[in-house]
Amino acid sequence: AARRALVAELIRDVPDFPKPGVVFKDITPLLASAQGFRAAVTELVATAPERIDVVVGMEARGFVFAAPVALELGAGFVPVRKPGKLPGEVISHSFELEYGFETLTMHRDAIRPGARVLVVDDVLATGGTVGATAALLKEMGAELVHVSVVMELGFLGGHARLAELGIDNCTALV
Ligand code: IMP
Repeated sequence: AARRALVAELIRDVPDFPKPGVVFKDITPLLASAQGFRAAVTELVATAPERIDVVVGMEARGFVFAAPVALELGAGFVPVRKPGKLPGEVISHSFELEYGFETLTMHRDAIRPGARVLVVDDVLATGGTVGATAALLKEMGAELVHVSVVMELGFLGGHARLAELGIDNCTALV
């Protein structure tokens, strides 16, 4: 509980970023604090189910948390990236944003069918990013066993959206 309180304290609200009316949750103070960053990773690791084979992180802030969690769990790390970044053969999934579309990609051969996967991201907002990642994992035949995020913006309904997609195993530290 003390560790999670520290994590919450170190996430800064930035009003009107990236556009007027939006309050952006800035995790850079958390990363800049050795104690805070350690607390976040320790707590993410504690929420992970047993026998995780692969930790998947989303570009770009998701990488920062997913990679140390993978190391601690003794699991591999696999990136989900924006189009045009991965050199090998990719699978893609597009989803609707407030304005326009976003596409996420993953190397087609990155995860073997049946692998037990933990998805880690910094912020769960509308759930679009995690939902698209889940679709990519499904296409690969991997098993999404848990989603762990540092912070959830409850008022954006991400949890409900994930539940609609059949993802009911999502936890947030804050
Ligand atoms: P969603 O797809 O709407 O759930 O948005 C989640 C994605 O957008 C995550 O990968 C976050 O990195 C990013 N994101 C959305 N809102 C914020 C925020 O307030 N702070 C930091 N990242 C955010």
